[in-house]
Amino acid sequence: MGDGQGFVRSLAFGDREKIARSLRDGDIVERHMEDGDIVLFNRQPSLHKVSIMAHRAKIMEWRTFRFNTCVCAPYNADFDGDEMNMHLPQTEEARTEANLLMGVHHNLTTPRNGEPLVAASQDFLSASYILTQIDRFYTREQFCSLVTYFGDGEEQIDIPPPAMVKPMELWTGKQVFSTMLRPNKETKIEVSFQTKEKNYINNKHFCKNDGWVDFRNGELISGNIAKKTIGDGSKTGLVFVVLRDYGPLQSAMLLDRWAKFCARYMGTHRGFSIGISDVTPSNKLTTMKHKILLEGYRKSESNLDLYEKGELELRPGCNLLQSLEEILNGILGRLRESAGQEAMKQLPWSNAPRIMAACGSKGSPLNISQMISCVGQQAVGGMRIQNGFVDRTLPHFEVNSLTPSAKGFVANSFYTGLTATEFFFHAMGGREGLVDTAVKTAETGYMARRLMKALEDLSMQYDKTVRNSENTVIQFIYGDDGLNPNVMENNDRPVDFARLSTSIRETLPCREEDTLNPTELRSIVKSKLGEKRFQDLLPEGAEILKEINEFFKAMAQKQAELINDIGKNSVEVSSLTWNSCRFTISQLNRFLDVALNKCTASYVEPGEAVGAIGAQSISEPGTQMTLKTFHFSGISSMNVTLGVPRLKEIINASKLISTPIITVKLEQDDNKIAARVVKAGIEKTTLGQVSKYIKEVFASQACYISIELDMGKFYGFDVNSLLQIYLVLTFLFLFH
Ligand SMILES: [Mg+2]
Repeated sequence: MGDGQGFVRSLAFGDREKIARSLRDGDIVERHMEDGDIVLFNRQPSLHKVSIMAHRAKIMEWRTFRFNTCVCAPYNADFDGDEMNMHLPQTEEARTEANLLMGVHHNLTTPRNGEPLVAASQDFLSASYILTQIDRFYTREQFCSLVTYFGDGEEQIDIPPPAMVKPMELWTGKQVFSTMLRPNKETKIEVSFQTKEKNYINNKHFCKNDGWVDFRNGELISGNIAKKTIGDGSKTGLVFVVLRDYGPLQSAMLLDRWAKFCARYMGTHRGFSIGISDVTPSNKLTTMKHKILLEGYRKSESNLDLYEKGELELRPGCNLLQSLEEILNGILGRLRESAGQEAMKQLPWSNAPRIMAACGSKGSPLNISQMISCVGQQAVGGMRIQNGFVDRTLPHFEVNSLTPSAKGFVANSFYTGLTATEFFFHAMGGREGLVDTAVKTAETGYMARRLMKALEDLSMQYDKTVRNSENTVIQFIYGDDGLNPNVMENNDRPVDFARLSTSIRETLPCREEDTLNPTELRSIVKSKLGEKRFQDLLPEGAEILKEINEFFKAMAQKQAELINDIGKNSVEVSSLTWNSCRFTISQLNRFLDVALNKCTASYVEPGEAVGAIGAQSISEPGTQMTLKTFHFSGISSMNVTLGVPRLKEIINASKLISTPIITVKLEQDDNKIAARVVKAGIEKTTLGQVSKYIKEVFASQACYISIELDMGKFYGFDVNSLLQIYLVLTFLFLFH
């Protein structure tokens, strides 16, 4: 080939040996994709940078793309007909670059804020939750068979000693998880941290729901594993901790093991299904629900009576009808809530929807209560159903009826079935959701484009400034601190010192070393921070150095207080401080080394397309926003514009915003009258609002405007001063 004289010869036909013999320098032999090839994989809409990632191909039969379910989240992919594209880079440079910059391993977190995106979801969470329940025990056979699930039968697995020895050897489900985390002693994952799971109530390790997750040296001590620990979006979970402390490879391998385990555990060991029996209410629940509903209806009725008599107390900023709507909204909202709570209370632990809601794999207590007890109020435009016929919602109701059922309250559950009118109202509410999603995609798409066009050329420069393509400085230091949000820890800072010190105490006990006393601790830290490697962090690192200093100051203070409390007996001191605040010289050195490493790695690198990342970080969540308005039911008249319309207002810099709200902190915040006075001072009141009448008088001698104030509306004001206002006003108009 060459000189544009090239031709293509298919290897599918003809004598391949002969073709091979006629190969010359510069010929290109094209081959099929092979196992291990680096490919780019993409799902549209590509809303953020992790919508295209590099994978290693594994050639399989049939014509569908298949991939690890843990990467569904970044692509926003499900399997209801989604299509994806694959590209095969052709040169070694392209492959390397794709692998290093776009590889799944290097993109486990969202560039927006560093929360893990590639993580366990759905069934994996249910399986983890069921397995790590406090009452799961397995015999040796069962345990051994379980631990083989997370590998391919090729790796060494060290069986831990049984949790229970007598009367028979038993292993717990938590031990299965610990073994998965660290299958053998070659795997150096020794995480130590604590976190609250979704179902945590109180009392830490003694939480009734076993929601306090505690890992010590890679061993799960307490807590059931669910979304907060192994799911996406949590910076306090296992996925994040392993990623930060042991790197992306260990993190990916962990997820891989766990995905394999959960699929096999659910598929062959336990099974998980949901049926009509899961949502059948008991007789007790049905009577309870009727009692709750009757009570709610009675309350609504009495408020309706008050409304008709005009005696209803007005809510701030509302007229009579708005106040009624607000009160009823509150009552009916609570009605569904209490009916739902009653239903949840009566469900057994093994109820499948309940398991899913508890571990965060799918659904919420609200969905469950809608199935079992009560669907609740339907809303269109954030309000109860509006009248569509003449003065009523549907011809089935009396004219001007404001009762719950006439305005879209669905008392039935999906189990008992909806009545015709309830069904209609439910369809009205459902349609709004559909219309909203349809309209929203177009709006957010355009917004994403505008954001990207405005910011696409901003990038980090080697002088740490952010500049556009004209070399104009946009920011002198990116984000005013130069830190990369993708690598921030739980506290939005480069290092979570508390977690680091716990983890160092656990992994590096240094039993033979002496505890540093408070003065030693302070002086060593001070001299260490004076070293060149730390001073090199300045000037941007000043905040971090200060944080380290303050962390140790607090630790020294705690030690000092403890020593003060128990006296100067050194044996006692060392034994008592051992667990709470012991820190030795080796531990301190390790701490400072790790902290320095993390800090140095936490700055945004020159060349980073910070503008594009910023644009995506705003527009991508914009597409996820549902429903235009959010109603604080029964709290106040706050029907705040949120979500996409609000985002539009911000980006367009609208001068007229739809819900201008100012939150005022009251000096005296326990007095309702005082609050009302402050409110009246801010609120605009027109003369018409406080007058009985305003009339123009054209008499023979003079013409004037006569106003009579409505004294009843001046609640709490001094009548004399009002009279003065009245007189001044009258005079003003007379002399005009
Ligand atoms: Mg889909």
